[in-house]
Amino acid sequence: NILFIKCFMILLISCITIRLNFSLSSIHFSLKSLPIEGNFSFDELDLKNAARDFGNRYRSHPMTVLHPKSVSDIAVTVKHVWSLGPSSELTVAARGHGHSLQGQAQAHGGIVINMESLKVEEIKVYGGEFPYVDVSGGDLWINVLNETLKYGLAPRSWTDYLHLTVGGTLSNAGVSGQAFRHGPQISNVLKMEIVTGTGEVVNCSEKQNNELFYSVLGGLGQFGIITKARIKLEPAPVMVKWIRVLYSDFTAFTRDQEQLIFAEKAFDYIEGFVIKNRTGLVNNWRLSFNPQDPVQASKFKSDGRTLFCLELAKYFNLEESSEVNQEVEKHLSHLNYIQSTIFQTEVTYIDFLDRVHISEVKLRSKGLWDVPHPWLNLFIPKSKIHNFADTVFGNIVKETSNGPILIYPVNKSKWDERTSVVIPDEDIFYLVAFLASAIPSSNGGEGLEHILSQNKRILEYCEREDLGVKQYLAHYSTQEEWQTHYGPKWEIFKQRKSIYDPLAILAPGQGIFQKSI
Ligand code: FAD
Repeated sequence: NILFIKCFMILLISCITIRLNFSLSSIHFSLKSLPIEGNFSFDELDLKNAARDFGNRYRSHPMTVLHPKSVSDIAVTVKHVWSLGPSSELTVAARGHGHSLQGQAQAHGGIVINMESLKVEEIKVYGGEFPYVDVSGGDLWINVLNETLKYGLAPRSWTDYLHLTVGGTLSNAGVSGQAFRHGPQISNVLKMEIVTGTGEVVNCSEKQNNELFYSVLGGLGQFGIITKARIKLEPAPVMVKWIRVLYSDFTAFTRDQEQLIFAEKAFDYIEGFVIKNRTGLVNNWRLSFNPQDPVQASKFKSDGRTLFCLELAKYFNLEESSEVNQEVEKHLSHLNYIQSTIFQTEVTYIDFLDRVHISEVKLRSKGLWDVPHPWLNLFIPKSKIHNFADTVFGNIVKETSNGPILIYPVNKSKWDERTSVVIPDEDIFYLVAFLASAIPSSNGGEGLEHILSQNKRILEYCEREDLGVKQYLAHYSTQEEWQTHYGPKWEIFKQRKSIYDPLAILAPGQGIFQKSI
């Protein structure tokens, strides 16, 4: 009897394996026979790359990677997956530059579309009174900048790092120090071309198919693949005056930040960061910034202290230099920073915008770029930022050597409520970003477990105190958690999904919807 059961089991397993292999090879075959200009890659290295991201913690291997040459390649592929119906488990993830943190651009056993292969057309710049640029969803922002600068123009709103794709940041929001004035990147889009979850190619804008337009902006890749986008431009400056000043008083720091985001022509970029228990901070800065008062600045000690750095930038052209200096002096004179801690430098506009890339090159050379990045990004209502700071910077975070903690306010009025992004319900809210790298302790860093447990304590505190915090670049494991994240927006989010991607084929790595089987 036992022998019989054993034989039966072996037969059953063999049958299942043969069936699986058969259905896998039939899917391979059907993909390979699609009429596309690009190609499907089944190469191990390609699959391995598509299973990784900047966060360096989550790995899901796809079945194949599509390198599209045209929008039609993407549409044909998605349409094919759609035609397989709900019984197929195949999903599709657009992958920008793979700079997600927790597998958001991955597709377990599915198709990853390498958006950077999509070179629809050249980046096209249009001048005139309301200039704009047409780009591919897979273009890197650094390339968009380089191209638009040839015409003396540039996008108005940025991320701190430019080696990210247009489609990737528009699927999130795209927030940086210009957002207080121009809103996030998703507030600076005029129109898009989208491949929906049924494989339709649809143009959309505020006036045309606007439900799809707003769904996709900040939509975490759930409603369609951005193949083209039209982005607003402004005249680009040549130079940037870049200023850092320090505060020890959090109230003075936030009061000045909040005052500055309403001062119309004061600064073009406003950010800030927290410094906790750093040795030799000012000396480090002196490598790239000049202290206004070198003697006093050299006496300033950051050791053992919690400090808040206000970071400002003013754009200018060379002929405006002295005028701009006076204006900057005037605005600085109204601020309440520690007088001996004013540091300034002047850099080209492109060096300013591409500043994080300089750090990337340095970190790469030390093997410290491809480490786990357990980042935590929060939007915090202004009314709760002091409570948050007291507990989090006062008790939970002991030092900031793992990576920067950014903190700066933005105006809700510059965010469009019709988009899919979720923000706190207050006129001003803060972006607080804990950008930690889990560097091996042999290099003086904190381990991954330590950083994750710190993040957990921060989130638990926010929840316990009901601070009305929303996570940015969030990652949840259950749909209930997503529902809580979206709050009143959940129903419309779900409804939009049922219209534009009814089988839940797209962006499975976000873990919001399961493909219906
Ligand atoms: P991916 O990580 O490849 O994709 C992100 C998500 O979008 C995935 O779900 C993917 O499926 C989907 N997606 C990708 N392309 C498309 C497309 N064409 N159409 C539809 N969906 C698509 N963010 C900020 O807002 N401000 C910052 O200052 C900032 N700084 C950063 C600095 C660094 C060093 C890094 C690594 C990230 C930073 N980010 C910042 C976060 C960044 O915006 C997101 O990680 C973004 O997802 C990265 O873009 P990506 O092109 O690599 O997209």
